[in-house]
Amino acid sequence: MFISENKKKEFIEISDVIKVVQEENNYFFKIIIKYFTHDYDASMLFINYFETSHIRLHEILGNDYTCDKINNLLQDIFLITVKHSFFKDNYNIPLIYYNYKQVFYYNKIKTKIDELVEMNRFQDLIIEELLKYEKERHQKNICECGTDETCFNYEKTKELFKDFLDYYFVTNQKNYLNKDNRLLN
Ligand SMILES: [Zn+2]
Ligand SMILES: [Zn+2]
Repeated sequence: MFISENKKKEFIEISDVIKVVQEENNYFFKIIIKYFTHDYDASMLFINYFETSHIRLHEILGNDYTCDKINNLLQDIFLITVKHSFFKDNYNIPLIYYNYKQVFYYNKIKTKIDELVEMNRFQDLIIEELLKYEKERHQKNICECGTDETCFNYEKTKELFKDFLDYYFVTNQKNYLNKDNRLLN
């Protein structure tokens, strides 16, 4: 029996889709939760989840379901999972994970943050340098922020970079302790 694509889609319940994504990413979600618990940088894992599941959802839902809708759905599934996990008391969800665009952006700009942190430790100065760097890139039409709201809004981007830096320092603490020890010895 041949059932047309659209007919088939009518029968797909969104709850089933959520379940499939959760099941297929069970392993990833577990590690991300572990990373949240131990303050490790989970951005790469999150992006992996996002990119593989995005393709997967096009297979399940078809191309009529837009990329934007898929991304929003993946964001929701992620939050449902990490907000209501049995281990939720052990971790806070870092701010940037409430908006997938920010995680992607953070991951792109992380090496630049690394570079700036190496050069000087003052938070305000790092943020100023980052803003300068991004402003110049946007002037050359290089945009990796991927977000219309911040592209390139000085105040909003500044707020965002504060969150980035907070996350950077939380997830790089151990490196810093080591470095300080090295300096002291
Ligand atoms: Zn897509
Ligand atoms: Zn941009």
